[in-house]
Amino acid sequence: MSALYGSYARSELAFERGEGVRLFTADGSDYLDFAGGIAVTALGHAHPHLVERLKTQGEKLWHVSNIFQIPQQEELGRRLAEATFADRVFFTNSGAEAMECAIKTARRYFHDKGEPGRYEVITFKGAFHGRTLGTIAAGGNPSYLEGFGPALPGFVQVEPGDLALVKNAISDKTCAILIEPVQGEGGVTAFPDEFLRGLRKLCDENGLLLILDEIQCGYGRTGKFFAHEWAGITPDLMAVAKGIGGGFPLGACLATEEVGKVMVPGTHGSTYGGNPLACSIGNAVLDVVLEPGFIPHVEEMGKYLAWQLQQLMQKYPDHITEIRGRGLIAGFRLSPEIATRDFVARLRQHHLLTVAAGENVVRLLPPLIVEKADIDEAIEKITQAFDELDA
Ligand SMILES: *Cc1c(COP(=O)(O)O)cnc(C)c1O
Repeated sequence: MSALYGSYARSELAFERGEGVRLFTADGSDYLDFAGGIAVTALGHAHPHLVERLKTQGEKLWHVSNIFQIPQQEELGRRLAEATFADRVFFTNSGAEAMECAIKTARRYFHDKGEPGRYEVITFKGAFHGRTLGTIAAGGNPSYLEGFGPALPGFVQVEPGDLALVKNAISDKTCAILIEPVQGEGGVTAFPDEFLRGLRKLCDENGLLLILDEIQCGYGRTGKFFAHEWAGITPDLMAVAKGIGGGFPLGACLATEEVGKVMVPGTHGSTYGGNPLACSIGNAVLDVVLEPGFIPHVEEMGKYLAWQLQQLMQKYPDHITEIRGRGLIAGFRLSPEIATRDFVARLRQHHLLTVAAGENVVRLLPPLIVEKADIDEAIEKITQAFDELDA
């Protein structure tokens, strides 16, 4: 029996090494990785630039405390600020910690303005913001909250898509609205640009902060550096993780100057967050992501994948009911009689790795370096799996 917590429903597969979009088991069989460690391995496995950086920095210095200057962290923070709406950055080791930092910053902002009673955050049904006590309260998924005592107060959930409902939920306790521009876990739901613009407007009209969770949909995945760029808006706070470290644990909370400056000495901290090794690798990831042509490639591959999925839906109208997502955070919704987890397991038998999401959606999160031939191969494997169902 395993000594590990049984909190994951793991498949029997174990991988020994990876290269690009492929993973290999010890016996040498290869799998096409359209799960990407759940949107983490944005540059694929063993990317030469990242491996080189891991080795060179690994021989010099891994960790020092944030009580010292960390030039690699300064550099990554400056580069992120230059490439986004943000002026200030706090580095973490994970997405949930980046979210916690964003929520704490929003509450502290109103505390410092003399409005400590404004601490409530409006969030959306189907959201996923992490697994800490704070972020399960923010996400509001009853099955993630069950059995863990009283949920942290200060979150109000509304149905996404309807601005009137959001407006109704705003009270004198509200400090922020928090949304994933594309819900990942919830079912790969890309919200219309109009809805995001409406949320920005509601925040402006009511003096609220807009917090975006771009942990899964950010860092190039939708075909823009960050998904909110499609809507032409900017947030006040944003949580980033997953792709930012390309597989090395790293996250970040980005803020405007006005909001970020409230986090003065003593308000927040992290032992590992932003250490020299993590930020060296973060800088190496950013070197590649910001290369001219990299993000346009994602957009092109995203369009190709969406088109291929549309063809697939036409071929199997009884099995696929909807195509979801934006860019390389994509999915197809299965008809109710097919269990998503079973279908994901069937795809694994065809050596294609995908992830189940909510609302019976099979999620595709290939590395952003994916090529057309890889997409064709994935579509071929999905086709084989559907044909088996029909046989
Ligand atoms: C993965 C994810 C998180 C949590 O990130 P962890 O690194 O697992 O803590 C939060 N929000 C979204 C949208 C995510 O996809």
